[in-house]
Amino acid sequence: MTATTPIFARVALDVPIAPWFDYLVPDELADSLRARDWVLVPWGRGRRVGLVLEVGGQPEHAAEKIRPIASLIGAAPRPDPAWLELVEFAARYYHRHRGEIALPALPRLLRTPPSARARGCAFERARARAIAAPATDAGQTIPSVDDEVVQLNADQQSALDALIAARGFTVHLLHGITGSGKTEVYLRWIAHLLERDHQAQVLMLVPEIALTPQLAQRVGARFPGLEVAVLHSGLGEADRAARWIAAADGRARLVIGTRLAVLAPLPALAAIVVDEEHDPSFRQQEGVHYSARDLAVVAASLRAIPVVLGSATPALESWFSAQRGRYQVLSLPERATGAVLPVLRIVDARGAPGPAGLTEAARTAMAGALERGEQALVFINRRGFAPVLSCQSCGWLSQCPDCSAYRVLHRSGARSRGGARYLLQCHHCGAASTVPRACPECGNIDLQPLGAGTQRIEQELIALFPGARIGRLDRDVASRRGAAEKVLDSFHAGTLDIVVGTQMLAKGHDFQRLSLVVVLDADAGLYAADFRAPERLFSTLTQVSGRAGRAAPGLAPRGEVIVQTRYPEHPLFAALQAHDFRGFADALLAERREAGLPPFRYLALLRAEAAELDEALAFLAAARGLATADDVAGSEIMVFDPVPMPMARIAGRARAQLLVDSPSRQQLHHFVDAWLAQLGGLETRVRWQLEIDPNEI
Ligand code: ADP
Ligand code: ZN
Ligand code: ZN
Repeated sequence: MTATTPIFARVALDVPIAPWFDYLVPDELADSLRARDWVLVPWGRGRRVGLVLEVGGQPEHAAEKIRPIASLIGAAPRPDPAWLELVEFAARYYHRHRGEIALPALPRLLRTPPSARARGCAFERARARAIAAPATDAGQTIPSVDDEVVQLNADQQSALDALIAARGFTVHLLHGITGSGKTEVYLRWIAHLLERDHQAQVLMLVPEIALTPQLAQRVGARFPGLEVAVLHSGLGEADRAARWIAAADGRARLVIGTRLAVLAPLPALAAIVVDEEHDPSFRQQEGVHYSARDLAVVAASLRAIPVVLGSATPALESWFSAQRGRYQVLSLPERATGAVLPVLRIVDARGAPGPAGLTEAARTAMAGALERGEQALVFINRRGFAPVLSCQSCGWLSQCPDCSAYRVLHRSGARSRGGARYLLQCHHCGAASTVPRACPECGNIDLQPLGAGTQRIEQELIALFPGARIGRLDRDVASRRGAAEKVLDSFHAGTLDIVVGTQMLAKGHDFQRLSLVVVLDADAGLYAADFRAPERLFSTLTQVSGRAGRAAPGLAPRGEVIVQTRYPEHPLFAALQAHDFRGFADALLAERREAGLPPFRYLALLRAEAAELDEALAFLAAARGLATADDVAGSEIMVFDPVPMPMARIAGRARAQLLVDSPSRQQLHHFVDAWLAQLGGLETRVRWQLEIDPNEI
């Protein structure tokens, strides 16, 4: 008998300290273990789930004395090579380790090592659950014209033809106004793809909003019997695991999901749809900050498959790529039902606001709509009762002691059960406190709420339009299970006359009886510090306006939108009124070029967090010193000065940032690699993170 030479495996773990960890391959796995297998490995005194990157190399990164792999998770589907390539790309691009990308891509139940008491394997349980109850997600029934399949119009048809003709890697930008029938085009294309290849899987990414049930229902009606997996954060853990495995096993042919779904390993992926591609929720804001839209394009290129990005207001990055000929534009310039876009009125709101924040013009329009039996939507992007509580006699404001923000006044008790209760809640750290009976500074008992949020507007609307049935939708409502769906269903069904709400109402919904949209206080984004604020505002206002007057001309009147602002002469509103995305986008691009901002330059942002602002700034100054010494940063790299973040303190921690930019993406990444290696050597108690292509600066 000869002693066998040990075989080692490189295993990726969700641990930031090394790119992989070396383990010994036990004899019983020597023949079977492959790259991309999921394994259970010892880690400290516990165990972890890991992904095998390579079998057979020499050890380089052992966490401790090299120990053997505990077991192979045989029931876990081995992802295909293209998936690992995507993980590798993301790791390189965002300068993180593969394990930090790959492991969070597993649902929590599947990436948690089994406890000693656990019976059976989590993957097996999830698979059994998925097979027992194939997810088709047919929810409540929402009446929609396209339940009987409609005839595509000429623009939709040529968009569809272009998509069907696409072979290999192509990126199409489907630029279609609100209600132009983009979803109809996706569904036809998907039907075609699934028919052409009976194994094929299609991934459809959607923003993180209350939209998935409606879409899933529409899909269920269109593809009866098709196994559809819906992946989003509102699911329970067991459902999430079951749907994930249905997708990863290749059984689910259509996968509809929010940003995380871009990392689901889909063995037979044939095409990707990114709906509302401009939406900020495609950006992951915890852990590795990736853009799911960007990764979707990379995934498509790695697999040589087509991807379509759809929006009424494409992201400037996408618009610019189209102008440079990298993406093909498909235009849907008309509404599919034949409805025309709503008339938009910009109303000067500089005077004192009337009840419910409505100007005279808005109130008259609402009364008219209600009289005619039409529905109205009031949009205000601020939840709670009032953004701040104040003392008129000494100037005290309800500042959050731990954040650079005010605590927001919320009504917590039910309105109907007499005597609402209130509390003060911070929207940044989440802390809440009772409302003081008297001013903590001067004892004045007459504390006043300043400004209005959704709850206050709702309350005042009830007083203003006593006969009307009024609903509200915001994150507070949506946090109660089923509550958001209930409001949306009632509004669809016509048992509500008015809804007031935030962003959640703005996107995607196809309300057939809504004729009037009123936007209160459109100004929040106009003069914000962040360079993307105008782009976001234009897109939000376009989306919310697009809810009005969607039904066919015979069925409903032309929609009307009233936008209240204190800056009516701002050019953004002229473009909005003219429904001129192109003009607006081209003007913004010119500004960005002038100012040296994306998509003309590439950004990386180093964020630091510490107990004291000075500490965070000192760390960033040291980091800046490293970058500028020895020419680490070449001439093409600009390293700015450290500054406090716009929200300088959250939950008692001070936050600061340092911006780096370059006209060359490649040089930026070269620089960041070298810089990160140096930063790793800095002794510091400061928590820091580097972000590529930051969403906000
Ligand atoms: P978008 O995704 O662009 O907002 P949708 O696909 O939701 O648009 O379509 C908007 C509305 O128009 C829906 O009610 C849909 O049923 C309807 N619709 C779509 N295509 C057509 C068509 N070719 N003819 C008539 N109605 C259509
Ligand atoms: Zn006071
Ligand atoms: Zn706070």
